[in-house]
Amino acid sequence: MNYLCTRDRKKKVSGMEAIIQGISEDGGLYVPEYFPALPKLQSLMDLSYEELALKILKLYFEEYTEEELKKAVSSAYGEKFHGKHPVEVVKKGEVHFLELFHGPTLAFKDMALTLLPHLLKTALQKKGIQEEVVILTATSGDTGKAALEGFRDVEGIQVVVFYPKTGVSDMQRLQMVTQEGRNTHVLALEGNFDDAQNGVKKIFGDEDFRKELKEKGYVLSSANSINIGRLIPQIVYYVYGYLRMVESGDLRMEEKMNIAVPTGNFGNILAAFYAKNMGLPMEKLLCASNDNNILTEFFLHGTYDTRRNLFLTSSPSMDILVSSNLERFLHEVSGKDEDLVKRHMDSLKAEGLFQWNGALPGDFYAEYADEKDVSQCIEKVYKEERYLMDPHTAVAYSVSEKYRKTTGDLKPLLLASTASPFKFPHKVLTSLGAPVSEDLFENIEALAMLLDGEVPTEISDLKIKPILHKRVTSLDAMAEVLLDALSGGEMND
Ligand SMILES: *Cc1c(COP(=O)(O)O)cnc(C)c1O
Repeated sequence: MNYLCTRDRKKKVSGMEAIIQGISEDGGLYVPEYFPALPKLQSLMDLSYEELALKILKLYFEEYTEEELKKAVSSAYGEKFHGKHPVEVVKKGEVHFLELFHGPTLAFKDMALTLLPHLLKTALQKKGIQEEVVILTATSGDTGKAALEGFRDVEGIQVVVFYPKTGVSDMQRLQMVTQEGRNTHVLALEGNFDDAQNGVKKIFGDEDFRKELKEKGYVLSSANSINIGRLIPQIVYYVYGYLRMVESGDLRMEEKMNIAVPTGNFGNILAAFYAKNMGLPMEKLLCASNDNNILTEFFLHGTYDTRRNLFLTSSPSMDILVSSNLERFLHEVSGKDEDLVKRHMDSLKAEGLFQWNGALPGDFYAEYADEKDVSQCIEKVYKEERYLMDPHTAVAYSVSEKYRKTTGDLKPLLLASTASPFKFPHKVLTSLGAPVSEDLFENIEALAMLLDGEVPTEISDLKIKPILHKRVTSLDAMAEVLLDALSGGEMND
């Protein structure tokens, strides 16, 4: 299996190279040359999550030996999840929640970012890369922490995270600024997530800067979902979720399910689309947005117009206008037309918009949920089921309700639950009409009481951890600050 570049029809790299590079130098993204067929579903029924991951990863990353992949998978899903099941499917009412937040940072990004460091490290060794790799990441809240945790103290790798100063939740910020590890650098950026993502993309595209880095002994790579090594591991849990629904008798084998995914950078839902292309029985993919409903408009009219204000919502990891992975989707729906994709991406960069006149597959349904919808859904599901959704998950829940109401389609629904409610106590408590304190940890305790449960240790530990990263930077200074941080200047970051 090789990987193509979305913007250059002549380019082809191996899986390891795609993982090492993160993004192509021309700004294009790497995509699999074809979609391998899933093995017969019946034969996958009895596999553990780790075994299933191994099977699927092998189809995409043939350069790794069985042993290498096995080791990567067990380090990721065994050790880092402390022996818990990496993924649980929980049925509440008519919805099957695909709980993806049981990893070290309590968000679904852990599903890929516990694994990617192992894939990358092995690739670097095999390709004989001598330089230190700098994982350069822009985060809307959850990627940053998951990357820091996944890559901390990994030999030969430095992790640099830029997060929007006012665009992440208090808990997300606290998780990042208390990050330990010899190789971690956390920088607040004056701007929003799109600024951070653009700044990072600019650094990737700056040849002179890359040269300068190389002379200093560094090469860049990415832990954002522009890295194909983030996407492929995400295919696994859709297959796993499907099999659990068959197991519980809610689906017949080969019967189609619907899925709902709270969407920001279009990575998680793209992984579901990949799973469908591999043969996972799936009817509709519900693409759920928050008030930043640019994808809803895109699926409705083909218009992708970023010339609008970015709202800061209670689901910050979806506060995004430029959804990077949409480019991979356009690659598929255009029949792999690199020139066409490049023209649209150039237009997006130059004018801030593009108009897609080609057909879009009918298997997508796009809608959005506003703050009121989110609160109502959190309250309803708690009242009826004693189950707490985080605001991102609630966005998808609300959209799935709208879908069912307007279409009458009641097919079994698998809903990607992307974060623990403990990461967003303020919104969850206000939605329930419960009192909210100024003190973050009092709110956390209040949530635990509502669930008759304990605060996850990943959260309670934060209370006593010292703040280690304080540096704030402007958009213009990103490259300079990056160099400074790498050379040890992070003493004051
Ligand atoms: C990143 C994130 C999303 C959005 O996922 P994309 O792959 O960017 O579409 C949704 N919910 C949570 C909690 C996230 O961290």
